[in-house]
Amino acid sequence: MKISLFNIANFRVDGGAMFGVVPKVLWSRVCSSDENNLIVLTLRSLIVETDGHLILVDTGWGDKQDEKFFRHVHLHNGEGLITGLQKRGYEPENITDVFLTHLHADHCGGAVKLNKKGNGYELVFPNAVYHVSRTHWEWAIKNNLREADSFLEENILPIEQSGRLNLVDEECELFPGFFVRMCFGHTPGLMIPVIQYNGKTLVYTGDLIPTIAHIPLIWNMSYDIESLKTIDEKEQLLKESLEGNYILVFQHDEKVECCTVEMTPKGIRAKEKFGFSDII
Ligand SMILES: [Zn+2]
Repeated sequence: MKISLFNIANFRVDGGAMFGVVPKVLWSRVCSSDENNLIVLTLRSLIVETDGHLILVDTGWGDKQDEKFFRHVHLHNGEGLITGLQKRGYEPENITDVFLTHLHADHCGGAVKLNKKGNGYELVFPNAVYHVSRTHWEWAIKNNLREADSFLEENILPIEQSGRLNLVDEECELFPGFFVRMCFGHTPGLMIPVIQYNGKTLVYTGDLIPTIAHIPLIWNMSYDIESLKTIDEKEQLLKESLEGNYILVFQHDEKVECCTVEMTPKGIRAKEKFGFSDII
């Protein structure tokens, strides 16, 4: 197996929304915000080569929406989706599998682009199978007021229309060494990849534990649909991570790519922090 991690782009989001009920006096000690209370998040994608598959995990925001939309997102820095792949020797045509943890716009937008005529949409990875959990797909196409700004038709429907959608029914080993864990607190059917690599267990924590600051059980995003489920799911994963010495890989943490965990008097917390390049 060959794996790599790269940051598509940074974006900004309201710090209060990222930390839910945690007061700013507490979260501001570990995460800085600007004059509009915005904090910086990354959009790290994982590339996994295994058993003839070239798998891309999540695709960032993409570029289909208008200038007004992206004004609120504040994209900056990062390698870009396509250039990040190319820097590692891959073209979009080479990707055999796009694994979407869920269909919120910052995770799946880069999978679909405007066609050349600008009158319709096409897939960015034309030869790939697109994996989404069945629970989440059915939830997303129904949509709901709480997540309406995150589930965008133009990000979702073209995938189904292409005939390249694979719905994942349950937790499984989707590819050799690439396991899927299902979560329901952030949004129903969020898929978390757990990867066995060189005797290590890597967990791409996605929106379950978006940054290292979200390891404490009640430090959760107000975007979560069911906070109590998020707490249970984090608790279970963190316990296993402690026992199995798992490496957590953060999608959204501006500063920290990976960490291990340890037990402290306050509960499970980060132990060693390191870069992804230290484990490959
Ligand atoms: Zn999300």
